[in-house]
Amino acid sequence: MKNKPIPAQIEFRDVTKIYGQVAAVRNLSLTVGRGEFLTILGPSGCGKTTTLMLLAGFEAPNRGDILIAGKSVAAVPSYRRDQGIIFQSYALFPHLTVRRNLEFPLEMRGMRAAERAKRVDRILERVHLDDFGGRLPSQLSGGQQQRVALARALIADPPILLLDEPLGALDRNLREQMQGEIKGLHKEFGITTVCVTHDQEEALTLSDRIIVMRAGRIEQTDTPEALYDRPATRFVASFLGEANILENPGFNVETDAAQPSGTVAMLRPERIWVAAPAAPKRADANNRQSVSGTVDDMIYAGPLRKYHVRVGSSLLVVREPVASGQQIFRPGDEVRLDWLRSDLRFVTV
Ligand code: ATP
Repeated sequence: MKNKPIPAQIEFRDVTKIYGQVAAVRNLSLTVGRGEFLTILGPSGCGKTTTLMLLAGFEAPNRGDILIAGKSVAAVPSYRRDQGIIFQSYALFPHLTVRRNLEFPLEMRGMRAAERAKRVDRILERVHLDDFGGRLPSQLSGGQQQRVALARALIADPPILLLDEPLGALDRNLREQMQGEIKGLHKEFGITTVCVTHDQEEALTLSDRIIVMRAGRIEQTDTPEALYDRPATRFVASFLGEANILENPGFNVETDAAQPSGTVAMLRPERIWVAAPAAPKRADANNRQSVSGTVDDMIYAGPLRKYHVRVGSSLLVVREPVASGQQIFRPGDEVRLDWLRSDLRFVTV
């Protein structure tokens, strides 16, 4: 007997959502595998939140269908979809203690008091808030409130977790800490997770796979590393990280392969070496392009320095990790830039 293929946990089939004159989501088809962490990334207004709202059941598509575990959820109301949800604003009940906030979803499911208390204790311990059960949300820091929101989303063991800009309101250190927390919980519970963000670092750090959206459509989808290293379009290259787009750069760009028509060459700033004009060349001679330039600006950013270097009619961005004993260049300095031709990427315009 043949094994039946396991259905994707979540599937969008040609989904369109229109608000008045605006198609917020257009002909969107995507699947999310069981246990996968998928992030939807894109600029403001590209349709990320609408996609999540459709999945959560807070909005209904005009066309197309959404399936969960192989079954259409068109007729399933939001509260029956069995999803843990965290919104950008924590949406904790302000008049209830942390414990009561956590108990609430269990009570709605008719769970008995003793079992509820056990679960609350367990999850509070898991998010390192054992001593905070008696406090009101207003008596917690932003990071602690976000932990409670995470605990509440997970407490009923939902098979799917939806995150809407979950760390948007936190400062950088807390954000990094919470990223680790979310990653750990995802691994531990194996929950299929869909996260919406415009924070590229968050997307790169957390996800198994990223979808980049643009004007209601999917522009590209891939693993974080593949998406960053091999962006298909200029839009993705520039949205995800920084990109030197070598379009009419005012110098000859050497390539090994013929450049496909309708594309431009792109080089990531960290793929360029900066050196004094007479310094030994570092890159492999058979695979190297060297150009001369003048430093326009140097920006110190802790672990790295960013140079803007004028070459031909271009201003190239170079990122160099700060290291002991390295030469530092100042505006006006003549420099040589080296890179590997194999690090050039061709992206469609
Ligand atoms: P942001 O990062 O700013 O939250 P987003 O990518 O999540 O943006 P959406 O909120 O999905 O974008 O909005 C997509 C488009 O649909 C936008 O042009 C927005 O103005 C429009 N839109 C969203 N919700 C509504 C609504 N309820 N009524 C009318 N238009 C809407």
